[in-house]
Amino acid sequence: MTAVKGFEKVKFFRPGYAIEYDYFPPTQLKHSLETKPIKGLFFAGQINGTTGYEEAAAQGLIAGINAHQYHNEKAPFSLRRDQAYIGVLIDDLITKGTEEPYRMFTSRAEYRTLLRQDNADTRLTPLSHKIGLATDERLRVMESAQERADGLIDFLRKTSIQPDQINPILNSNDTAEVKQSTKLAKILSRPQLTMNDLIPLLPLANFLEVNESHQDTLEQAEIQIKYAGYIEKEEAQAKKLDRLESIKIPDGFDYNNIQSISTEARQKLTEIQPKTLSQASRISGVSPSDISVLLVHMGR
Ligand SMILES: Cc1cc2nc3c(=O)[nH]c(=O)nc-3n(C[C@H](O)[C@H](O)[C@H](O)COP(=O)(O)OP(=O)(O)OC[C@H]3O[C@@H](n4cnc5c(N)ncnc54)[C@H](O)[C@@H]3O)c2cc1C
Repeated sequence: MTAVKGFEKVKFFRPGYAIEYDYFPPTQLKHSLETKPIKGLFFAGQINGTTGYEEAAAQGLIAGINAHQYHNEKAPFSLRRDQAYIGVLIDDLITKGTEEPYRMFTSRAEYRTLLRQDNADTRLTPLSHKIGLATDERLRVMESAQERADGLIDFLRKTSIQPDQINPILNSNDTAEVKQSTKLAKILSRPQLTMNDLIPLLPLANFLEVNESHQDTLEQAEIQIKYAGYIEKEEAQAKKLDRLESIKIPDGFDYNNIQSISTEARQKLTEIQPKTLSQASRISGVSPSDISVLLVHMGR
């Protein structure tokens, strides 16, 4: 049967769209994307088993930064899982390896509430500035935007509003009236309300420069207030894991001497050679009890 005019004589040998390529196991890489066996050689992109433009670009950025750091005898640069999706991507690749072409999904990150678009600038600009990428001016712009958002959040948390002022707004948004003066932050945490509903009540000129687009600051303040509980919970979890992150495993550590960990854990730890106990805990096949044994061996 001919479906497309002009292709009547076409013979179908095999599918033409295929992704056929080889790759190097990414477990041979450090967090800086330098290969473990060959110093000064950095890998990024499809060669590490990923697919996708963004995945390639993200790794290219980190490998490029680190090639520069290496060349200039500076400390390697990496991002943690609670700092950036790039951190999740690279940590997954080098800790777990990949059997299938790897794509970065938001669901792969455990700190999704911290890794937001509205706070990308606050999370990453200071790190970028520290290694000489972001300019002083860029850092200044970020810091002053942050100060304005913090000022607005502080105002909303400290300022109470009288029922006669807020009830008309609550009514028009189908949410229950208040009977006594209530903090603006508490009102804003109601799902029916957004920052834009409260704007008529806010002395915005105190927080936002005239003529500036206010939307970013308003959005950041709104998210921080509405999701404060979730954000704090994730920050606490990230801090807890930080404890394991600070326990370094010496280079070339010999796991064969530790009999009380599982055989699978011993093999995986030997193969991947994690740098910290936190990284070790993320390797599939390494159980919490294996980590407890390692903690004892590290003198903790
Ligand atoms: C048909 C197709 C459709 C796709 N569609 C999408 C999409 O819609 N969205 C998406 O996000 N991703 C898509 N991808 C995946 C995406 O294109 C790749 O994952 C990404 O481009 C990989 O980037 P890279 O830099 O790692 O590799 P590449 O882009 O392949 O770059 C490698 C470069 O190295 C060069 N090179 C190789 N050997 C040598 C050598 N010996 N010396 C010098 N240079 C050499 C090559 O010429 C090439 O320029 C698609 C891929 C394919 C094949």
